[in-house]
Amino acid sequence: MTVSDDSRSALRILVSGAGVAGPVLAYWLTRHGFSVTVVERAPALRRTGGHAVDLYRPAMEISARMGVLPRIEERATGTNRMTIHREGTRRPVRVDLSKVFRAASDRHVEVMRDDLSEIYHDATSDDVEYIFGDSVTAISPDGEVRFGNTEPRRFDLVVGADGLHSTVRRLVFGEESRFGDFIGAYLGVLSLPNAAGLDGELVMHVGVGRTAGMYGARHLGDARALFLFRSERELDYHHHDVPAQKALLRNAFDGLHPDVDRWLDELDRTPAFYFDSVTQLHMDTWSRGRVTLVGDAGYCPGPAVGGSTCEAATRPR
Ligand SMILES: Cc1cc2nc3c(=O)[nH]c(=O)nc-3n(C[C@H](O)[C@H](O)[C@H](O)COP(=O)(O)OP(=O)(O)OC[C@H]3O[C@@H](n4cnc5c(N)ncnc54)[C@H](O)[C@@H]3O)c2cc1C
Repeated sequence: MTVSDDSRSALRILVSGAGVAGPVLAYWLTRHGFSVTVVERAPALRRTGGHAVDLYRPAMEISARMGVLPRIEERATGTNRMTIHREGTRRPVRVDLSKVFRAASDRHVEVMRDDLSEIYHDATSDDVEYIFGDSVTAISPDGEVRFGNTEPRRFDLVVGADGLHSTVRRLVFGEESRFGDFIGAYLGVLSLPNAAGLDGELVMHVGVGRTAGMYGARHLGDARALFLFRSERELDYHHHDVPAQKALLRNAFDGLHPDVDRWLDELDRTPAFYFDSVTQLHMDTWSRGRVTLVGDAGYCPGPAVGGSTCEAATRPR
């Protein structure tokens, strides 16, 4: 079936999620003449917190075609060195990260996810309708979509770009437990003062089954600490119970190193905290009727497993 220019502009597409995949998809859909609305649960684009993500050649090429690569490169974190302190050893290992990135791809830039999301959003804000602070609550087979706050509307296509814990996927395809495969690890990230003045360096403390790291970025006022630990079984906590998540993190990293203790002390003051299981999605299909999934909502390899931002940025194209 071919779609004429006139019928394209008449087709209304709803994208749920203004992270990475959502705005990139919205950009290309509007370029091809479709009329696009993006609904984002957060009240505004997040300006603090978040974590660094790596873009390799495919995502950089898409970004260049969108005309936003110079802005992305301007906001590069500049992290190119890693110092690893192994538990029980004295001498740190120093790694030239640029060699590691070059081995993965001939083009690479590391950027904060929130910066990336803002840049993609800005590239679309003139042509796309954004609704912040709302979420889809029901999607009927004829395309009527209900929201928490906005009046119901009818769309020809609904796209879930609302991340690993996608609401669109739950509403249309079923509970996350049917598709999520826990791969034995948990991840925490917090924002903290860059007291050590880290610039271009990732400092890691590595123990058995647990790794903590801290990095800054040229243009960031603060730094980020990242915690990754193994767990054979899924831990029992509610995803809204932040104090319980912080307690799990403290417990997992108890006694690793005084630096790590200092980072964990910031848990009580941090303005931005993230905690999640490393869960991989396996779905037989990404589309049902007039609903489809992109990015982590459809094919998340697991937070921090690597490569998923590239997937989120390139597949919608
Ligand atoms: C600590 C950490 C480190 C990472 N490191 C890397 C890395 O080095 N390299 C890499 O490639 N990837 C990395 N990732 C993964 C990367 O962040 C994601 O793969 C990428 O952001 C996925 O983009 P997305 O647009 O699919 O989803 P997201 O970026 O998660 O965006 C989803 C959006 O949907 C919104 N949303 C959620 N629910 C609703 C709802 N009900 N209604 C409306 N909106 C909703 C969210 O607020 C969010 O804005 C890392 C992730 C974490 C957590």
